[in-house]
This record gives sequence, C-alpha cells and structure tokens, in this order.
Amino acid sequence: MPAQYDIVIVGAGIMGVASAYHLKKNNPGIKVLVVERYGAAGQGNTGRSNAMFRNTFSSSDNQILSNSSIDFYTHVQEELKVDIGLQKIGYEWLMNEKQLSRSEPFLEGMEKNGVEITRHGKDDLRRLLPSMVTEFGSSSEAALMELPSVDGGVFGPKCGRLDPDKLVRFYAGEFIKAGGEFAFNTEARALVVGPSKRLGIEGEPLVWQDFKVEGVSARGAIDGIIRAETIVLAGGAWENELLEPIGIECHAKSKKRQLFSIQAEGRKLEGLLRSDGFNPQGLLPLVILPKSGVHFKPVSEENAFWVACEDEVNRPFIDLPEHDLDRYTAERKYYERSVYPILVSYFPEFKDSRVKAMWAGLYSYNTIDNLPFVFREKNLIVVGGDSGSGIMKGDSLGRVVNSLYREEGETTLYGGIPYRTSKLSFERRDVEREEWVI
Ligand SMILES: Cc1cc2nc3c(=O)[nH]c(=O)nc-3n(C[C@H](O)[C@H](O)[C@H](O)COP(=O)(O)OP(=O)(O)OC[C@H]3O[C@@H](n4cnc5c(N)ncnc54)[C@H](O)[C@@H]3O)c2cc1C
Repeated sequence: MPAQYDIVIVGAGIMGVASAYHLKKNNPGIKVLVVERYGAAGQGNTGRSNAMFRNTFSSSDNQILSNSSIDFYTHVQEELKVDIGLQKIGYEWLMNEKQLSRSEPFLEGMEKNGVEITRHGKDDLRRLLPSMVTEFGSSSEAALMELPSVDGGVFGPKCGRLDPDKLVRFYAGEFIKAGGEFAFNTEARALVVGPSKRLGIEGEPLVWQDFKVEGVSARGAIDGIIRAETIVLAGGAWENELLEPIGIECHAKSKKRQLFSIQAEGRKLEGLLRSDGFNPQGLLPLVILPKSGVHFKPVSEENAFWVACEDEVNRPFIDLPEHDLDRYTAERKYYERSVYPILVSYFPEFKDSRVKAMWAGLYSYNTIDNLPFVFREKNLIVVGGDSGSGIMKGDSLGRVVNSLYREEGETTLYGGIPYRTSKLSFERRDVEREEWVI
C-alpha cells in the first residue's frame, strides 16, 4: 500500500462508506483509503441500529436529507436490483389530543414541503389496530404512569426499514470496484498536523505558519503515518477522540441506546405483527406510542418485534466512548421496569412476552440542534452528529462530503435536489432545530 493517498477516510460506518462511494465515483482518478478499527465495514453503530428511515421530520433540512436518501436507496433496490432489505412499512405516531395539536404546525410544514402523511382518526385506528387500548378509564397503573390516551395517529407511508449490513455492503462493494481501498483492523490514533510548507524549524507548525492535517498516525494492519491531501473523519461516536487533541469542536456527545427483540409467540402477537391495511407487505408499521417514545417495529423474518424507547433524561452523555461497543450492554431490568409496562398497557398481547435478544449502541448527538454536521477545516472534512438518524441520511451526507472536497457551494442530492453545501457546517450553519426526535 502506498503511504500517500489523495484522501484518507477514518471510519467505515454508513457515513464513511457513503462518503467513500461518492468521492470515488465523482473523482475517479484519485486514490482513496478507508481505515477502520474493526475487522469489517458497518460493525460500529451502523450495524447495531434499528435501521428505520423516515422523511417525517420537523426540520426541512432533515426532510430533504432523508427524503433524497430514501429515494436513492429505493433506486438501489428497485432499479439497480441490489437487495438492501428496504421495505416501506410506514411509521404510525400515536398521540393524544394535546400532542396532536402541538404537532399540527410541524405536520402542516411537512405537507407544505411535500412530505406524505395521512392523519388517522380514532375510528381508523380502531379498524387498523383493533386490539390497541386507547383509553385507560380508572386504571390506577395507567394513572400512575400518566399514560396519554390515543386520540389519533399520523402515518408516514414513505417511511420504513432497511438492512444496514446490506446497504453498507453495497457502498463498500461499489467503492472497491471503482478502485478504492480499505484497511481494516487499523486504528487512526491521531491526526497529524503539520505546516503547509515545511521549513525544517523545530516545533513546526509555529503560530505564524499556515498548517494542514498531513495524515493519520495509524496502528494495526497499517502501522505508521498514512499521508493524504485530504482527510475525511467519519468516526461516528468516536470523533472527539481525534478532534479534541487538535482543538476542533464538533458539538457531539454520545449516549447509549438499547434495542430489545421480543419473540412474536402466539396467535395474538403474530396477528399484530402481520397487521393488514398499512402497507403492501401486510405488516405492522413502526408504531410510536404516546408515552416516552416507546416504539416497536415488526421483523417478520425473525418473527419478532424490536422494541426501543426514547431515553433522553437521566442517561449520561459519554464524551470519549470505549472502543469496544460490547462494553455498552442492554439492561433487561430497564426493559422490564421502564419499557414493558408502557408497551403492555397499550398492546396487552405483549403480556408475558419474552426478550429473546438485546443489545446496545451509541447515538452521537449534535447537542446544538439534533441535525448532522458536515464541515471543513483546512484539508480536514468532518461528517457526523447523526443524532440517532444517520443511516436514513447517509447518502445525502456522502454527497455533501464530496461537494466540500470539490469546493462546490451547492450539492446536488439524489433526484437533482440542490442543497447549499455550507448549511450543515458550524460557521455558516443554517438549519432549524429538529423537534421530532425519537
Ligand atoms: C440502538 C440504535 C438504534 C438506531 N436506530 C436508527 C434508525 O432506526 N435509523 C437510523 O437512521 N439511524 C439509527 N441509529 C443511528 C445510526 O446507527 C447512526 O446514525 C449511524 O450508524 C452513524 O453512522 P456512522 O458512520 O457515523 O457511525 P458508525 O457506524 O459507528 O461508524 C463509525 C466507524 O468509525 C470507526 N472509527 C472511529 N474512530 C476510528 C479511529 N480512530 N480509527 C479507525 N476507525 C475508527 C468505528 O470503528 C466505526 O466503525 C441507531 C443507533 C442505535 C445505537
């Protein structure tokens, strides 16, 4: 392997491989290397995610970034005939009157921007989800948990699920076919900063010298300094580890998030899994309950539901996460005490259901506005801040990275959508805070 590349990308999660694909596709002559600490692409948080996608966001930027990525993923599956496990099963957000009226301005914004949504009234929901409890009457348990009634729902038909491993394999495979290289089991231990013009003076770069990132100091399958004209940092939850030592802030902090797989045992749960009327697959959509963001999706091939919960408060931020994601374990008690009581109150068929598997990963929150960032500092491009929805925007972010590399002010997203490249930077950031987070 040459020690000099045009571009070195750190990280082979969705952000790294989508960036690698677009950089190599649009600049075919360049030498691009992706370095990855793990033994394969997509083994970080991408592989641990729920891999749902939606275009139903309050922020118009998130709408555009995800909508265009969903269109590209649909193109990959339907026109390029590459199976990425994409199924538009929809999202159904269940709400009480108060939540519905609070959401109305966001819903109107989505409609104005062409995001497809269907409002479901109580009668629709009774027909679609006949077993669901919508009122709790005098239940003392429901009163204790302050469970909102279900007065309506919002359905997003362009939302759904995909297989993140298959998606990563698509990008990585195309990148390799185009001549790109991976170095797995290779850790970038530091970004190496040096003067733009080396003068041979001790302590370079001195304060009056222009500087750049010369490369990465690597350990593993490649040992030593890998030099490159441009460095792309796509390190997910671990970006602070490389940025903080060189004094660059990316406003991201990580938090553990958990997923619980529940076996759909018995007629009632199987019936719920295969709820008709929402999508062509005859499956339940992702259902978001009106309390604590508890949500669950059908995984028909495993005859299971994956259940999760929005746990924003009283959960610690992690500034510099462990490298081994297995150190972050899912907590059975958390499911039993926090998630299950809510789930079973709305859908009694979950009573006595079994957790057959559970795991955890990290969200990397952009603590300013819950939107991703893509910015450039000299010859370093940084992409991240997924805030829990990076797979669904991965393609668009890869295109923005390519435009930053090419110094193009406007990015063309899939479908010919123009998008100002600087919008996701910090210096010239121009986005609204995302309010529809789960
Ligand atoms: C439980 C859970 C559920 C989620 N659900 C969804 C969902 O439904 N939909 C959705 O869109 N998103 C979801 N997400 C978020 C999604 O997983 C992330 O947005 C996405 O994976 C981020 O991609 P990434 O490439 O930035 O990070 P990662 O996939 O973590 O990739 C970063 C890679 O960089 C490597 N790396 C870091 N530092 C170095 C270094 N110094 N040297 C070498 N390699 C390095 C890491 O090993 C890693 O492989 C979920 C996340 C979790 C944890």
